[in-house]
Amino acid sequence: QLKGKTALVTGSTSGIGLGIAIELAKQGANIVMNGFGDHEGPRAQITALGVRAEYHGADMSKPAEIEAMMKFAAEKFGGVDILVNNAGIQHVSPIESFPPERWDAIIAINLTSAFHTTRLAIPYMRQKNWGRIINIASAHGLVASVQKSAYVAAKHGIVGLTKVTALELATTGVTANAICPGWVLTPLVQKQIDARAAAEKISVEQATKELLSEKEPSLQFTTTEQLGGMAVFFCSAAADNVRGQAWASDGGWTAQ
Ligand code: NAD
Repeated sequence: QLKGKTALVTGSTSGIGLGIAIELAKQGANIVMNGFGDHEGPRAQITALGVRAEYHGADMSKPAEIEAMMKFAAEKFGGVDILVNNAGIQHVSPIESFPPERWDAIIAINLTSAFHTTRLAIPYMRQKNWGRIINIASAHGLVASVQKSAYVAAKHGIVGLTKVTALELATTGVTANAICPGWVLTPLVQKQIDARAAAEKISVEQATKELLSEKEPSLQFTTTEQLGGMAVFFCSAAADNVRGQAWASDGGWTAQ
């Protein structure tokens, strides 16, 4: 279904980004991978699906490196048909003790990077009159939680950016939408569970139960495969006129 298309997924060495890259690759899309840590293992997982995968290690907090990554994608594959803005970090602290440099890093990686990739991807998508921009926001793009000021601000921001992108491209074949996951058991969330277990002197299992029951009525994590499936749907013809939406897969979190 996506054979011959190229998908660039930021932060695809781990977690949700890797899960989405795998589901897009299963549909035949070639993948431009990005992110820190080991990339050869994840890359082998993707190429085993019979597609091409190239890796670029751009730091999403650095606009010049993002430009270099987009050039790299154009050189390797001619351009990006599907852009998944997924790279993200978290920091948990009350506002009055929130380190300003963490605020800046979260806004840069979770929000501003998507502005740069989007502005650089649009000309190619316009030229082809087909494109998909999929922003990985969060339940925190729709509602707030304490101690996550930068993250909630960035995620609400990316939902806004998604809407503007969709409107500016509304008469073209390029759509922009956001996915808003609830809890997904990735390294980003495991860190929060471990911190909770340590702070409350409880087991990791108990901390996991508490984390889910606090926010997520289903008491289930959303899986990276499920989020990949949503991305595949956004890439399908059935979603040609789905524009500017922020769709949650959050076990009922934002229905409350
Ligand atoms: P993760 O930590 O498993 O993966 C994050 C990815 O981003 C990794 O590949 C990492 O290397 C990359 N990354 C981090 N900083 C980067 C930088 N400066 N430049 C380039 N790459 C960078 O986390 P995850 O849970 O898979 O999160 C992915 C996205 O999903 C994030 O935007 C996160 O906010 C969002 N999200 C996660 C959850 C959840 O419960 N895990 C829920 C809602 C939204």
